[in-house]
Amino acid sequence: MLLEVSNINTFYDVFQAVFNVSLTVDTGEVVCLLGRNGAGKTTTLSSIMGLNSPRSGSIKFKEREIAGNKPFQIARTGIRMVPENRLIFSDLTVRENLELGCRNKSGKYRSEKIDKILDLFPRLEGLQYRAAGDLSGGEQQMVTIGRSLMGDPELLLLDELSVGLAPIVIELFKRQIGRLREEKITILLTEQNVLFALDISDRAYVIDKGTIVYEGNVEQLRENKRLMSEFLGV
Ligand code: ATP
Repeated sequence: MLLEVSNINTFYDVFQAVFNVSLTVDTGEVVCLLGRNGAGKTTTLSSIMGLNSPRSGSIKFKEREIAGNKPFQIARTGIRMVPENRLIFSDLTVRENLELGCRNKSGKYRSEKIDKILDLFPRLEGLQYRAAGDLSGGEQQMVTIGRSLMGDPELLLLDELSVGLAPIVIELFKRQIGRLREEKITILLTEQNVLFALDISDRAYVIDKGTIVYEGNVEQLRENKRLMSEFLGV
């Protein structure tokens, strides 16, 4: 198992947001964590990334315990997170934003990597030298994902990728996630857009009030009308 989260409990000060959450992600899988607003999706990803370490429980990545480690240490082990708020550097060009994803490598290595990113997101090719702040939301999202991919992650954490994006851009992302999957990049993503998530994932977890209430493959979840309406509002 690439990632094995077991019984984590995560707090904001005295407020507990995640209760005994367990989940696994195998190499090459695309797994989604679904739930309504405030269900605990972002907190779960932040726990894995070390941004808000769990107070108890275990997180193993490639069989090694990473719970409690600092985000930069966790990034070094091969995990990258694309946060919901995108965090691009508006004044830097698209290319400079991408370069930040692997600063300690040679210029040649970086430019080969950038070529791969531009191949994945052809839309960015003509925008390379534009300030990233001038891009649309969807294009900025491509830059953030691209920057994460520059570090060659073994596991990519995508937080609410589709939020605020136009339906046509969401369709585009479906295809691009499909390509990442062909390249065997393992992904754990959170979504409120359930139908989008089910289209791109192999397996799903549903979280409600900080607790996992369902785990299974996407076909089973699609057919589970009660669960879809009760916890996901579909
Ligand atoms: P969203 O789609 O809104 O991001 P989510 O499922 O990702 O929802 P979380 O952001 O993980 O949910 O929030 C889980 C719970 O933790 C919520 O009750 C939320 O109010 C609370 N929470 C989140 N961030 C903080 C914070 N920085 N300080 C205090 N409480 C927080």
